[in-house]
Amino acid sequence: MNASTPSPVSATALVFVEQRGGRLAAAALETLAAAQAQAAAAGFALEAAILGNAAETEAAVRALDACALARIWRVQHPRLAPYVAEAWLVAAGALLRKTNPAWIFFIHSYQTRDFAPRLADRAGRVLIGDVIALRREGEQLVCTRPMYQGKLAAEFVATLPPPLFLSLQIGAFSADNLQRAAAPAPVEILEPEIGEPKVRAGEPYQEARQAVDLSKAEKIVAVGRGIREAKNLDLARELAERLGAELAASRPICDNGWLPMDRQVGSSGQTVAPRLYLALGISGAIQHLVGMKASRLIAAVNKDAAAPIFEIADIGAVGDLFEIVPALISILQQQG
Ligand SMILES: Cc1cc2nc3c(=O)[nH]c(=O)nc-3n(C[C@H](O)[C@H](O)[C@H](O)COP(=O)(O)OP(=O)(O)OC[C@H]3O[C@@H](n4cnc5c(N)ncnc54)[C@H](O)[C@@H]3O)c2cc1C
Repeated sequence: MNASTPSPVSATALVFVEQRGGRLAAAALETLAAAQAQAAAAGFALEAAILGNAAETEAAVRALDACALARIWRVQHPRLAPYVAEAWLVAAGALLRKTNPAWIFFIHSYQTRDFAPRLADRAGRVLIGDVIALRREGEQLVCTRPMYQGKLAAEFVATLPPPLFLSLQIGAFSADNLQRAAAPAPVEILEPEIGEPKVRAGEPYQEARQAVDLSKAEKIVAVGRGIREAKNLDLARELAERLGAELAASRPICDNGWLPMDRQVGSSGQTVAPRLYLALGISGAIQHLVGMKASRLIAAVNKDAAAPIFEIADIGAVGDLFEIVPALISILQQQG
């Protein structure tokens, strides 16, 4: 694709569905569901693309069997696994030239952040990244994305003609509304020519180890930098025990080694959705929020009334956690 010679776009939207080793990324279905809703409202056909080697695309396509899609593209080449941006740019570019979609959706993953802005740039466009909400205004798709570490949410619309490149924040959309299909979508194989990349892939980044599966916890007490010192964790631990909750933390607590990495909640930690999430001294940075905002009831204690955590909290206490937590423990003690 070339900015100076734009191809006419088709009435199609395309989702790049991420996979590793043939397994779909956890956020694949929520991204598909969001794209389905927008494509249906615009009267667009929705297609999905899986990039990888032949074994990976074959396995991943089976996981999409049940989704309502107009077509699934298996874009395959041995040089697409393991992931290298250079090879993916060639393959994704070949697919876009063939399909000319009007809207191109990505999961806002590390991989997307690596190659999708360059892919958009090659088409003379930009990627609207980390989108948390979508709405239509006439022909336009209005994308909301967080700014300044989640302190503001801004709305973006493309000022250039399609294609529109956008990546959806993990956890921002629900997979519950995914439209299922009675029959599997037609599958097409594209085998682009990919030369020897100049870059060789290293070991993939290992996110927080998961000896503890916080995703199954019914209640979580999470601590942030407001706890000040490692020894003060005992206070949060006591509250967690009395509530029958798991103890979790924001990243600085785990980075300091005060709690193991598998207790970290957020974009580089675990994603949780307990019935109760009690955040103690956590500011509510976007990287933390994406890991816990699906919690049923969010309660927050923070001495700063303007802390972003209060924007998503159902119950908030503005105050010193060193006064509030002992008071809560004492109430629970009285209740036996
Ligand atoms: C690529 C990347 C990935 C990241 N991944 C994650 C991740 O997975 N998880 C994550 O959590 N972060 C992650 N981060 C870090 C994130 O940006 C924030 O820096 C971090 O979440 C802040 O942690 P915090 O809220 O504990 O600390 P702070 O932002 O320092 O907030 C501390 C809060 O405690 C309050 N406080 C202080 N004293 C008291 C008191 N006595 N009583 C009550 N409240 C008090 C303050 O008002 C403040 O709001 C990531 C960052 C990057 C760049």
